[in-house]
Amino acid sequence: MTQRGAGALPNGLSRLGDLNRYFQLWCKYSELDTGANYQAEYVWIDAYGNTRSKTRTLAKPIAKQPSELPDWNYDGSSTGQAPGHDSEVIMRPVAIFRDPFRRGDNILVLCDTWDPQGRPLPTNTRHSCMKTMAAVTEAEDPWFGIEQEYTMLDQDHWPLGWPKGGYPGPQGPYYCSAGADVAFGRSLVECHYRACLYAGVKIAGCNAEVMPGQWEFQVGICRGIEAGDHLWISRYIMHRVAEEHGIIVSFDPKPVSGDWNGAGAHTNFSTKATRTAPGGFDAVIKQLEKLAKRHKEHIAVYGAGNERRLTGAHETAPIDKFSYGVANRGASCRIPRDTERNKCGYYEDRRPASNMDPYLVTERIVRTALLDQ
Ligand code: ADP
Ligand code: MN
Ligand code: MN
Ligand code: MN
Repeated sequence: MTQRGAGALPNGLSRLGDLNRYFQLWCKYSELDTGANYQAEYVWIDAYGNTRSKTRTLAKPIAKQPSELPDWNYDGSSTGQAPGHDSEVIMRPVAIFRDPFRRGDNILVLCDTWDPQGRPLPTNTRHSCMKTMAAVTEAEDPWFGIEQEYTMLDQDHWPLGWPKGGYPGPQGPYYCSAGADVAFGRSLVECHYRACLYAGVKIAGCNAEVMPGQWEFQVGICRGIEAGDHLWISRYIMHRVAEEHGIIVSFDPKPVSGDWNGAGAHTNFSTKATRTAPGGFDAVIKQLEKLAKRHKEHIAVYGAGNERRLTGAHETAPIDKFSYGVANRGASCRIPRDTERNKCGYYEDRRPASNMDPYLVTERIVRTALLDQ
């Protein structure tokens, strides 16, 4: 995972002034009729866990299924995914969303990545996830809800709303707060939420987090592969809306060291068995006992730098020890009170870091909990 946007702009404010002007112009030009054509923004994931995208013109009628869209390619030597002498990476459309930026008939196209010989790239984690999900979706119907935490940074890479060269008051008043002295960056939160709804992303909610400048949104409930697809496109949309705000969004799991909460991507999971009373609660325990035996394999794919976050403090469990418990936010996995009470439901894996790859995480959970792999 590399640091995004390392070249900070010297003056964020004047750039925002420019952006206002761009939006006025965009309002004018975006009303022009595009005739027989529409625009597709092809989005993919690079070697560092960042989303990238580029645009192409397509002829109407508008594609409804990914299979109706053409494959495309890009220069993989510029994304850490191919050598310069054989740089072409093939993109295959896997999911379509409405484009909340261009609107109208235009679309966002999530793609996975292949080499010219037709093999999935090593960084195409979706391909393997897809196969694993296909093996269990019919019988077990795995559902996921992912809580994506993230931190807003100013152009100088210091958290949004924090005093320059200093620190805000200690954590306490910021979580789910309202007020100009405690809640920073709400415009981005609200715009992103609506953009996701428009796009067709299954966004479920959002809240301000414990560390000032840190927020969360939830994606789900999603079935199988859909969890990874929707989370990735929601991250892409986040970066696009953040760009318009002149705000840098960081998915680093511990953006500020010290007595500040880290950022996670709690992954909530259930299957047909766990959702069905009265045996559901026992099914939850059975799965958690399996997770206990595979702790290392899970941590290995739960995000880079997660050791800075999973310290045992700040509502986390230590990275080297697996635990679970009802309503326990200091455990690796939490069973919600409702699941206990109803004798069925879901559980929450609190270990994944905010920068995790949801294809890796959802696949790992299914392999351990359902396939004994
Ligand atoms: P927390 O109390 O940990 O902050 P949130 O409300 O932020 O919880 O997130 C809970 C997540 O659990 C939501 O994304 C929701 O979609 C998901 N969820 C609820 N029921 C299920 C279920 N049966 N299976 C999987 N995920 C679920
Ligand atoms: Mn939450
Ligand atoms: Mn949270
Ligand atoms: Mn949670």
